Amino acid sequence: MRYALVTGGSRGIGRAICASLAKDGFYILINYNSSSTEAESTLAMVRVNGGSGEIMQFDVSSQEAVEKALGDWQARNEGKYIHILVNNAGIRKDALVMWMKNEEWNDVLNTNLNSFLYITRFLLKDMLVNKFGRIINVVSLSGIKGLPGQVNYSAAKGGVIAATKALAQEIAKKNVTVNAVAPGFIKTDMTKDLDEAQLKMMIPMGRFGRPEEVASVVRFLASDDASYITGSVININGGLYT
Ligand code: NAP
Repeated sequence: MRYALVTGGSRGIGRAICASLAKDGFYILINYNSSSTEAESTLAMVRVNGGSGEIMQFDVSSQEAVEKALGDWQARNEGKYIHILVNNAGIRKDALVMWMKNEEWNDVLNTNLNSFLYITRFLLKDMLVNKFGRIINVVSLSGIKGLPGQVNYSAAKGGVIAATKALAQEIAKKNVTVNAVAPGFIKTDMTKDLDEAQLKMMIPMGRFGRPEEVASVVRFLASDDASYITGSVININGGLYT
């Protein structure tokens, strides 16, 4: 039995990732922050897909909360470890830099970038000792290209992209891979306030993506078939940026 932790598994892309990984028989740890009912629905989807799992509440932006939740899980599961880590939880708080409040900058950096350190560092030792692990970071087109109005979010996602490439080299010899997927516009709660009709005119495929179209790439990166891929960033954006 392999264990997979998906942060932000209660909704959107994270939920689709949980449902997809369940098809490969992983035991899924579904993290969420506040949507417990939604997280329970994800767990039901995991079970429908033939998998098993549990929900796990913690705020990824709090080092203390991360270490408490994961430490408790380790104490309850002696001899087991988390093989697959999907750093997916994220928020956006868009504002022009001229008007950006420290809080908007710090919240986005803490949730999207610092969480990568808190969770990855905690789980890495077991992956290295066992000489197997997969770390998959959900980043964004914003972190590659930069998008106006999202300087905080672009900085956070760009930081995770650079961290992905650096960590991949640090631990490659231990058979632990580190990759990122960079979605463009995907139909989830995060994008529901955007003008889809206007934005899709810029997308070569003429539509927003579906969460499942991101999840299938994450599922591949988590599989044994992706054993020689590390330090990569895979774009999933309907041709919007290459
Ligand atoms: P979403 O529908 O808004 O879902 C966000 C998920 O993250 C929820 O499960 C939420 O949990 C969780 N979350 C947020 N803050 C958290 C925290 N502090 N601690 C724990 N969990 C937290 O967003 P999405 O569109 O699925 O986005 C998923 C990832 O893809 C994010 O990293 C996002 O930046 C990235 N992305 C999305 C798009 C897009 O177009 N949608 C494009 C590029 C990249 P609760 O339900 O408990 O709030």
